[in-house]
Amino acid sequence: MSVKLEISLYQTHLDLIDEVVGSGTHGTTREDVLRNTVLEHAAYLLSGGTPHDPAPWNNINIQRPKYGESKFEQILQPGEGKAIPLLRGEVLHMTQLVGGQCIDFNGYNLHDHKEWLDCGFNRQRGLVTGPGTVVWSGSPRGRPMYVILGASESLDQYYQGHRCNGIILEREYGFAHHSSCQDAFAESIREYNLTEDDVHDSYKLWMNTYLDDKGRRIYAWNRAQEGDFVDLLSVFDTLSVPVCCPAELNACNNYDPHPVKIEVMEATPATLELVDLVEKEWGQLKMQREPQDFKIKDILGERELTQNSDYQPEFLPTSEKHSLTVEISEEDQTVLGGLVREGNYAPTEATAMLVAFIRWYDRNRMKRRYMRLDFQD
Ligand SMILES: [Zn+2]
Repeated sequence: MSVKLEISLYQTHLDLIDEVVGSGTHGTTREDVLRNTVLEHAAYLLSGGTPHDPAPWNNINIQRPKYGESKFEQILQPGEGKAIPLLRGEVLHMTQLVGGQCIDFNGYNLHDHKEWLDCGFNRQRGLVTGPGTVVWSGSPRGRPMYVILGASESLDQYYQGHRCNGIILEREYGFAHHSSCQDAFAESIREYNLTEDDVHDSYKLWMNTYLDDKGRRIYAWNRAQEGDFVDLLSVFDTLSVPVCCPAELNACNNYDPHPVKIEVMEATPATLELVDLVEKEWGQLKMQREPQDFKIKDILGERELTQNSDYQPEFLPTSEKHSLTVEISEEDQTVLGGLVREGNYAPTEATAMLVAFIRWYDRNRMKRRYMRLDFQD
């Protein structure tokens, strides 16, 4: 005996269902698509999948480009950093002189410091690490900013934290005015008239740190060896700021920080070609907005916040709500009952059907979720 389900859903949900209807792969009506994708999703769960499995990697296979000659080099001692203009197609080549050393990293658009490397944006869909990683600036710009062109196997990245700072050192140990990454960043970007407040969350290279299942922050031993390196390719003109972390009170630098060498390698036709490809692939979205798209284009010049008396809110509209009736068989009902009991598919069969469809869509049809380049040498 069949049953009718009344599904409450949004226009965006209908658009996704209609897209699948249009492709013809799972039936020719909305009802068919819902029924068929839900059965496929349930079969996927039975074969060992989970409700939360994301879309597979969006990989681009490409030859690793050769970069040019060194045009600048400097050795950074622990507690020192350097703000370096790293132009489109240039590569920042950073090397361990002794090993066991964490490099903290900040980056800004050289022509607009309000656009910067946003660790939160980079971890929004999970962590992407290692060679081939595309490193992004934050919303509303949200553009590819760097590519990790290559790195030694020991490169453990950590961008779920903040950066070592004087507050923590004073609070926990009583050491005020002790060197820290915050202060090293601030002192480095002062060369370009940026303030201490302009330091942002650090994109850490060689920091073997994680949160355990109780939420505790674990500092594992730094695996970097002498001569290990990481290469960051700049996708647009940046002010790039590597800092040699001075922490000696945890395993961040194995309790004994050491210097690192930083070099800027010149752009080549091959690195510029890669940058063009990255921008073409991931840099052409309508919502990658720039100041000319903003309602307020000027940067606030004062510290005090005052209300704009002419302000009228103009929020973007949300998706319209609809309802859809779907006739399901007893077999469909058994499957949906199982999904309801699973606990991650809503308490009603009608909503569980929609949720299962969206989870199927995420896994099978989502356009660009996890993205990286797959380099061949
Ligand atoms: Zn540090």
